[in-house]
Amino acid sequence: MTQTGRCHCGSVKYALDGEVPPIINCHCRDCRRVHGSAFVTTAPIPTRNLRILSGEAGIQQHDQRYFCRNCGTRLWNRLSDRPAATMLMVSTLDTEPTTPPVVHINTGSMAPWYRIQDDRPTFPALPPDSDQALDRLEKKT
Ligand SMILES: [Zn+2]
Ligand SMILES: [Zn+2]
Repeated sequence: MTQTGRCHCGSVKYALDGEVPPIINCHCRDCRRVHGSAFVTTAPIPTRNLRILSGEAGIQQHDQRYFCRNCGTRLWNRLSDRPAATMLMVSTLDTEPTTPPVVHINTGSMAPWYRIQDDRPTFPALPPDSDQALDRLEKKT
């Protein structure tokens, strides 16, 4: 299965091969600040499943964050020491996922003015098995 996604202005377009994995709400201060929002919803995907269809030259990187240079849409995160794993910004997908986030992470720095509205598990920082989860992701085909 392949889906497509894009930035707000449409200059960056991508294809995502395979299923969208379980999605995650990150409540960390960095995500909140760069998005100007209460939390950010991401999906960990193998980098090789992501194909840039257009606008690659217009993708700007700042730290681990990749965004459209033209419109500023944040597209994904990638750690320099984990290049095989990408955290895709779910809202850039053309087809919205239909399943809710499975977990809330970094709730130790969540917005004091926000209340989580569901009973999904919460982790004050990263879940203890997140390194192993990324290992599995990088090996996944
Ligand atoms: Zn754009
Ligand atoms: Zn975050």
